[in-house]
Amino acid sequence: IVQLYVPLNWFGTYYRAIQKNFVDMENMFDLMRVDSDVCDAPGAPELLVRRGGLEFKHVSFGYGPERLVLNNVTFKVAPGSTVALVGPSGAGKSTVMRLLFRFYDVNEGAVLVDGQDVRTVTQASLRAAVGVVPQDTVLFNNSVRYNIQYGKLTATPADIISAAKNADIHDRILTFPDAYDTQVGERGLRLSGGEKQRIAIARTILKDPAIVLLDEATSALDTNTERNIQAALARVCANRTTLIIAHRLSTIVHADEILVLKDGEIIERGSHESLLAQSGFYASMWQQQLESRNIVNGNNEINAEG
Ligand code: ATP
Repeated sequence: IVQLYVPLNWFGTYYRAIQKNFVDMENMFDLMRVDSDVCDAPGAPELLVRRGGLEFKHVSFGYGPERLVLNNVTFKVAPGSTVALVGPSGAGKSTVMRLLFRFYDVNEGAVLVDGQDVRTVTQASLRAAVGVVPQDTVLFNNSVRYNIQYGKLTATPADIISAAKNADIHDRILTFPDAYDTQVGERGLRLSGGEKQRIAIARTILKDPAIVLLDEATSALDTNTERNIQAALARVCANRTTLIIAHRLSTIVHADEILVLKDGEIIERGSHESLLAQSGFYASMWQQQLESRNIVNGNNEINAEG
């Protein structure tokens, strides 16, 4: 089955908007630190990472005073489980991720990691526990090796190769002009979206965090790349607490819980099957994706397979 996606109706807006708004949270955090209101509480201890449980407790949040972007959002991600966030553009999915990373502090309620309010621990220890695989990774103007090693600066060359293999990018790297020493980024070799994402996965595998935040790529990738990336993502999420912003619902049918976010509120939640059975918003999103995929597959038989 070809998994290309043609944006239709509101899904189109939703897809394009995500692409435009996406930020590499780890890099952006560095950029924003200077003028962020968020700071460590005096004498704040480090986060005690146990098994990476996450909790939003009655969280309300707005970027400014005029409008709440999240309204009384409550959910848990049990250690080692996978929870998916879905919903239309502007629903607040990325905002949930930013609050987990403590880009901003909540107006009401609390964000807890392993039972500790993120406001009470150092930001550095929080960030060390959380790996982010953004949908569009910004690479440093440096070697491929450095871009992976950034996940753990003390990693050995063997660790880096092992992470690259697990992310299904090692063989590809060997085809670059200077293999791991190839310069990438704006002033070096231009990598495809799929390659960049696999480098981000390798980086996260090397970092080995208890918690992974994943923003699924929206851009259409070819079938093989898609399959490789799904396999690599499955490896980075295995045995880790995972929160994923999903755009292709087909990739999250096995999630432990799916949260449907709309206008800053969780309007439906449950497993894929139970949500389909509700015949509500999720079920209509699913139907819409099935229909658009059929159209793509129909076109594809004529255009792409030849
Ligand atoms: P998408 O799927 O398009 O990425 P989303 O569900 O991730 O959307 P968010 O990015 O969390 O949605 O945005 C939720 C709301 O908050 C939107 O109305 C958006 O315009 C607003 N918003 C996001 N970032 C900021 C910001 N830095 N300042 C002010 N408003 C913001």
